[in-house]
Amino acid sequence: MSAQILDGKAIALELRESIQQEVEAQVAKGKVPPGLAVILVGEDPASQVYVKNKKIACDKAGFNDVSMVLPAETSQAELLAKIDELNAREDVHGIIVQLPVPDHIDPEEIIERIDPKKDVDGFHPYNMGRLATRLPELAPCTPHGVMTMLAKTGIPLRGLNAVVVGASNIVGVPMALELLNERATVTVCHSATKDLPQKVAEADLVVVGVGIPNMVKGDWIKDGAIVIDVGINRLDDGSLCGDVEYDKAKEKASWITPVPGGVGPMTIATLLQNTLQAAYGVKA
Ligand code: NDP
Repeated sequence: MSAQILDGKAIALELRESIQQEVEAQVAKGKVPPGLAVILVGEDPASQVYVKNKKIACDKAGFNDVSMVLPAETSQAELLAKIDELNAREDVHGIIVQLPVPDHIDPEEIIERIDPKKDVDGFHPYNMGRLATRLPELAPCTPHGVMTMLAKTGIPLRGLNAVVVGASNIVGVPMALELLNERATVTVCHSATKDLPQKVAEADLVVVGVGIPNMVKGDWIKDGAIVIDVGINRLDDGSLCGDVEYDKAKEKASWITPVPGGVGPMTIATLLQNTLQAAYGVKA
């Protein structure tokens, strides 16, 4: 069996087009465009690339991009004051602080200072709590984007054995909550998990977000399983690869996401979707 490819690039483009149409319709009714503020502190090269891509996506969707780059030496107090200022602005509907932040900044305090209604990354404990209590508002972008992709398979998630490998606050934990909310039976694995190959072998659906190239081997995958690879790793030759041994896993899975061109493009599209929701209360 060779898996069908879950084409994140195409699904993200479709989502971005429907967001753009919704913005046009709202602006035609006299509303202001959604305003998104991405704050980058310092000059981390990978973050600069992400922020640039977010800006391009914002412009294409007709959003008002209020992104800013602050010097690396910006203090905690200065950053908190900037967030207070953006929280108060009526033309700004979404605020994100690009992670990682420099070591002298406490990311928890920063995230908690963002108005939960403008927390379009979905990282604020309020929004994580909403997701955990089955009352989601602004859900973390990467896992929510994965849910949009899974819907494209047409496979009901109810009752599936889902294994999530990785348990971070931004990927694994909200991913597990999203799947649980769809009535999958969820196992969450992390660095202390015993016998990971056996856990993965029992999965009808496996989502991997660890950050180790090709860690999940193709021969661990159950025949016909859905495989979602969140990992993005840059190899020494400059190429990108995921956390799953793609070529071998593709021979066993029913559906699989490539890297690049899988989950990555969905994250930015979902950020726009969250900002649209924060601005107008509608979902594209
Ligand atoms: P973190 O480093 O925050 O978390 C990694 C998780 O993997 C932790 O829960 C850790 O366990 C677990 N882990 C580490 N080693 C093992 C192991 N040997 N076996 C099982 N679990 C293990 O990473 P992130 O969640 O931020 O990112 C994960 C990957 O996803 C990265 O490649 C990142 O680049 C990518 N990513 C992609 C995005 C996208 O848009 N496609 C968005 C965000 C991230 P423990 O909890 O025990 O430490």
